[in-house]
Amino acid sequence: MLYNQILVRFGDLTLKGKNQKEFLHRLYDLMAIKMQGLAVEIENTYDRIYIHLNDCEVEEVIQRLDYVSGISSYSLVVKCKNDIQTIKTTALELMKEIAVKDTTFKVETKRANKSYPLHSMEVTRAVAGYVLANHPALHVDVHHPEVTLHIELKGNDCYLYNTEIKAMGGYPVGVAGKGLLMLSGGIDSPVAGYLAMKQGVEIECVHFESTPLTSIESAQKVVDLVKKLAKYAPKNKINLHFVPFKEIHMALLEHIPESYNITIMRRMMYRIASKLAEKKNCLCLINGESVGQVASQTLQSMKTINYVTNFPILRPLCTYDKVDIIQLSRKIDCYDLSIKPFEDCCTVYVPKAPATAPKIDKCETFEKKFDFDPLVTEAVEHTNSITIDQNSDLDLSLLGLEVREVIFELKNQ
Ligand code: ATP
Ligand code: MG
Repeated sequence: MLYNQILVRFGDLTLKGKNQKEFLHRLYDLMAIKMQGLAVEIENTYDRIYIHLNDCEVEEVIQRLDYVSGISSYSLVVKCKNDIQTIKTTALELMKEIAVKDTTFKVETKRANKSYPLHSMEVTRAVAGYVLANHPALHVDVHHPEVTLHIELKGNDCYLYNTEIKAMGGYPVGVAGKGLLMLSGGIDSPVAGYLAMKQGVEIECVHFESTPLTSIESAQKVVDLVKKLAKYAPKNKINLHFVPFKEIHMALLEHIPESYNITIMRRMMYRIASKLAEKKNCLCLINGESVGQVASQTLQSMKTINYVTNFPILRPLCTYDKVDIIQLSRKIDCYDLSIKPFEDCCTVYVPKAPATAPKIDKCETFEKKFDFDPLVTEAVEHTNSITIDQNSDLDLSLLGLEVREVIFELKNQ
């Protein structure tokens, strides 16, 4: 294969000045981490990044680029000397590789270097003429060509390419600061985490676990989902916080009327998540709520639940419908894990008629009937935190213990 580099574009930067510098710096670091172990070389120029392939497997490099947020598109390119004779022969060689049968094509030239003796049009004409004369299967079609051969002249270099592949887009993860993702074992929250990272937000994850009311497998599922998300993280690692939620769960079942159980459970989750976010220097909470999806996600519910915290809450999926969410879930390889049927604390107890328009004052009245504060404080204090690497082989079930004990043991190793 003739291609020797990948040209990486990051689109029109709306960021200015210092932020732009930070963006580029992050993007470079992120790419370097994702390419670790490969012999590629990354060249940073002010408006582009070039990956020198150095004979590495191009498929492998491209696959890794799929995990880098902040890249708008990329192209496989052949770099050669900015000299008309070299450009002509390189273009012919490339077209011979791309077009083995009858193909229509056109040439398009861009010139960063205005001092170059030939104008763009002249280069286009010279190269197209040469390639046509030496490659009988090619025909010119300037309106709807099957192949467009792009030529970019920059200083002493020339880049030739024929495809532009759309990449993840967004901003380099981390550039926007850090948020705390409320991660259940379902379909939505991992997708919400992915979208937040895509938009530049680094994440830590919190999971409310109610073992032994719920199974160890439901906690393992969360670990496995975090492993998938870690592939997008700045250092391929994400911190996961397991909050012991059983006591609160039991207290809710005992002291709160059934129709308000879910609402108040979620208010407890928001309270705890906010305290953790504060501790971990996270600037926002992130969750997988989508307007109208279930009783706890009506706008009235959201308002009542939201009332307990001042943290901004990102709901990347708030306007998505389920079909689109599932498509994204598959894209990030979480779907098969998410649909594994292990119950979490939301599914272990489902009230028959949850309030769809719960009121703030009613919640406050119910919450006064039992002193939840010590339980909330205790849950925060007994939260167990672990760092999950994309290649982690952590298997909770093998240890055959309650999650709490397992995590505690791991932490103290
Ligand atoms: P998901 O598919 O992400 O589970 P869902 O549609 O089932 O979402 P809910 O169960 O109402 O919705 O939860 C809404 C959001 O609350 C979830 O997307 C997640 O962000 C958060 N959440 C729910 N349960 C937990 C949990 N046990 N631990 C952490 N966060 C949770
Ligand atoms: Mg759920």
